[in-house]
Formats: sequence, structure tokens, C-alpha cells
Amino acid sequence: MQDWDIIIVGAGAAGLTAALYSCRKQLRTLIISRDVGGQTNLTNHIENYPGVDPQPGPTLMQKFLAQAQSFGAELLQDKVVLVEKTKNTFQLTLEGGKKVNTRAVILAQGKEPTKLNIPGESTFFGNGLSTCVTCDGPLFKKKTVVVIGGGNAAVEGAIELAGLCEKVYLVHRRDIFRADEVTVKKLSMYKNLVLLLNTVPIKINGQKFVTGLNVKNAKSDKTTELAVDGVFSEIGHEADISLVQNLVKTNEQNEIIVDDRCKTSCQGIFACGDITQVPYKQTVIAAGEGAKAALEAHRYLTGAL
Ligand code: NDP
Repeated sequence: MQDWDIIIVGAGAAGLTAALYSCRKQLRTLIISRDVGGQTNLTNHIENYPGVDPQPGPTLMQKFLAQAQSFGAELLQDKVVLVEKTKNTFQLTLEGGKKVNTRAVILAQGKEPTKLNIPGESTFFGNGLSTCVTCDGPLFKKKTVVVIGGGNAAVEGAIELAGLCEKVYLVHRRDIFRADEVTVKKLSMYKNLVLLLNTVPIKINGQKFVTGLNVKNAKSDKTTELAVDGVFSEIGHEADISLVQNLVKTNEQNEIIVDDRCKTSCQGIFACGDITQVPYKQTVIAAGEGAKAALEAHRYLTGAL
């Protein structure tokens, strides 16, 4: 007998909802994830999850977890490094080498922040370098910070920080923002917000904590150091699909391709949430997709597929 009916990789909105639905179908369900909450944890104030009052993202995610656990879901805080198909079942290898077996897999591991790939990035992560304005912004009250990026996350982040910090630089590698126009327009409302366009980050400086960011103007090639206490990298997110590299089809963004029932190209493996090609990366959408993935996995396990 296999250890589990379903193993869900990831404990964000998608994975936790999948766990709730799969437990309610009486399937032995294990969630494996390094952390609980995923991307929803990065917002302090989620006000577009229908039917619930505005609240911090982590609070909502803890409620998702408690609800899934109340129906029997188990959580293992670990990292899955490999999924292998063995006849009609699957063997998952964890970071420490431990192996677990399951009849079906739901992939819901979400995405990871994109790396800047510049010197100082690994040294200063958590010591002045952050990938989450919402989480770490309050630590930089009345300080000088720089936000890197030109999408909604960077522009909204810079605006949030401008209301909090002494001075905010927004460094974007082009002169046109990817963020929504209505959001970009708000940038001009803040006198303490300095836009540095056509500018790329090249090195993070500091001792124990960040003290500056070297940037280069892409047109003039001129390099300058911005004296800052904090660097916020808001340059998007990437999918890590190394655990199922040769098992499921993916697109050019490394997103797992699913059909309209969350089935991947490999029978017995389902996927949901931000890791898939499904558009609009939103908590409510991830939750809905998680429910769908579990219901479809149940159909698969009970022979209805
Ligand atoms: P995006 O992919 O939208 O933007 C990433 C930004 O980072 C781009 O401007 C990109 O530049 C820049 N960038 C990428 N790599 C580098 C690099 N190595 N060095 C410097 N700059 C780099 O990511 P977001 O996280 O902003 O948003 C992700 C999704 O979430 C989007 O769909 C967004 O609309 C959505 N979102 C929505 C919000 C809302 O509706 N309130 C809030 C936050 C996010 P370039 O433009 O040149 O490619």
C-alpha cells in the first residue's frame, strides 16, 4: 500500500484548498511545503478575497491551514526535490534524502522571487535586501531605500514606502513602466520619490547591513552609488520546476501546462495556482484551481477518469 493517496507540494492558497477538498473526499492527504501561506503571506491587507473581512495575508492563510487540518490534512515542513513515476504511483524524494510514496500528486509550489544576479545579493538578503515591500517596508521607517523594478509590485511598493521613508529611489531598467498606468501616475504625488529610469542595479554594498547600491545608467554607462539603508528587489517571480523537469510539459516561463481540469501531461500529476500557466495570479483564483485539482485527482483515484 502507498503511504498516501495524495501528496500536495506547496502550502499556499492553491495547495491548502486542494488539501481541504481532498480530505473531504476521504483521501489520505499529506501537504509538503517549506512554509505555509505562499505569496498571500506577502500582503498585509487582503481585501479582495470574497466573503471575508480585510485582514493580513498570513492570517488568512493560517485559517486555510487550520480548516484543511480540521478535515485530516497533515503537513510536513520539508522540500520535495524529485518526483518519480513508478508504474501507476509516485515516489517523492525530500531534501534530506527521505522518500515518500503516493498514488497521486498535486503540484502547488507557486513561484520564487526572481534573482537580481548581482554581487552582494546573497550576502545582504535579510540584512537590508528584501523581496517584499509589504513584509519588510515598516522596518525602514524614516530611512532611505531603493526599489528595483518597473511592474506593479515595484511601483506600488515604491508608493507605499514613500509614505513611510525619508527618501525612496525607484530604479527601472527601461523608460516605460510595465505597471498599470493609473498606478504609475501616482508616483508624481510623492516629492520624496526619485525615479531613475534606464538604470540597472550592478552591486549591493555594505558591511553587516546594506549601505548602498551601485547603479549604471544604461544610456550613458555612468555608474553611481545610491546611499541607502535598504534595497527592495521587486522584479517578478520564477517557477521552480526542477522536481518534475522531465515529467510534465511546461511553457517558456517554466509554468506547468494544465488543462481546464488541472491535469498535467503526466497521468496522476495535477497542478494548480501560480505554478501553472493559468492567468491572473490571485489568491482567490489559486484557491479555486486548488479545489478543482483535488476534485479531479479524486476522480482519477476512484477510477472515474
Ligand atoms: P512583473 O513581471 O510585472 O515586473 C517585473 C519588473 O521587473 C519589470 O518591470 C522588469 O523590467 C523588471 N525586471 C525583471 N528582471 C529584472 C532585472 N534582472 N533587473 C532589473 N529589473 C528587472 O512582476 P511583478 O512582481 O511586478 O508583478 C507580477 C504580476 O502580479 C503581474 O501580473 C502584476 O500585474 C501582478 N501584480 C498586481 C498587483 C495589483 O494588481 N495590485 C500588485 C502586484 C503585482 P521590464 O519591464 O524591462 O521587463
